Amino acid sequence: MTIDLRSDTVTRPTRGMLKAMMEAATGDDVYGEDPTVNRLQDLLAERFGHEAGLFCPSGTMANQIAINVHVSPGDEVICHRLSHVYNYEGGGIARNSGASVRLVDTPLGTMPSDVIRAEVNPADSHFARTGLVCVEDTVNKGGGAVQDLKVLSEASTTCRGMGMPFHLDGARAWNALRETGEDWTRYGRMFDSISLCLSKGMGTPAGSVLLGSKDFIAEAHRSRKVMGGGMRQVGILAAAGLYAVEHHFDRLAEDHDRARRIGALLAGHDAVERVAPVDTNIVIAQLVRGRQASECVEALTEQGILCSAFGPDRVRWVTHLDFDEEALEQVLAALRDWH
Ligand SMILES: *Cc1c(COP(=O)(O)O)cnc(C)c1O
Repeated sequence: MTIDLRSDTVTRPTRGMLKAMMEAATGDDVYGEDPTVNRLQDLLAERFGHEAGLFCPSGTMANQIAINVHVSPGDEVICHRLSHVYNYEGGGIARNSGASVRLVDTPLGTMPSDVIRAEVNPADSHFARTGLVCVEDTVNKGGGAVQDLKVLSEASTTCRGMGMPFHLDGARAWNALRETGEDWTRYGRMFDSISLCLSKGMGTPAGSVLLGSKDFIAEAHRSRKVMGGGMRQVGILAAAGLYAVEHHFDRLAEDHDRARRIGALLAGHDAVERVAPVDTNIVIAQLVRGRQASECVEALTEQGILCSAFGPDRVRWVTHLDFDEEALEQVLAALRDWH
């Protein structure tokens, strides 16, 4: 059987999750009448210290809605050069919200408060109005790096002091929280809005939840409608989310442990120059000069193991719910054999 480590989005719903989906009470969510969607939105809002939540089809849409509500056309959004909102959302910041981007380039996707202070434009008509600061945790292109809580907290204080909204792309915030053990509510309160993916490490077929104040979520409803993201009896998906929050959060530690064991083996491999620190479930290896990522991907594919070329000389592996101890042994053996 193929072992797929291209992404943590490739997982299939488990039996327990499918059962929860089958039994979900549903209603028309565009009318706000799906009891299971409402339960998921309320649960996550409460756990993360926010007033309200909104179920969205994807993490991209949840981020794009947040940006759309926070900014006006012509505004500038501060985000990181490595960020998903900038790299992988189809230029949505400009296309959906008419905003431009101010890129920050710090190590591993961090957003220190002195950088924020330096990048926010002064209130002068020559400059674009800075409308939002975005941060990502964990940092996908940063090898699943976990943001330092103190740095986040200082960034939050700085943004609040400047009256600047602070958005978290928390597609993998679950992995960060599992690793740090930080209280969800304390963590959540640092941000004005949060998008959380349920279809990555949490293992549901689809869905993200956007969190924020009551007023913010009321506006987010309109944005979601405009983007075509209003869905009907999606309690079946929300039930998968509720199931995942209960059953799949603690086990993320297993994904992190397996990723570390892959990282440790790669760190000693002849073809590998360096492995990015493995904080969570993503392993990124920089190959030695002259080695191509595509060769590595092809060699492993022949052994029934899928991973991704992450640039010409970098390879990425992502561990997840459908990757167990036996599969890990196969991957470690294949990597030992690869020369
Ligand atoms: C996956 C991901 C998203 C959202 O992706 P969708 O595929 O649209 O759900 C957003 N941010 C980060 C950092 C991600 O890894």
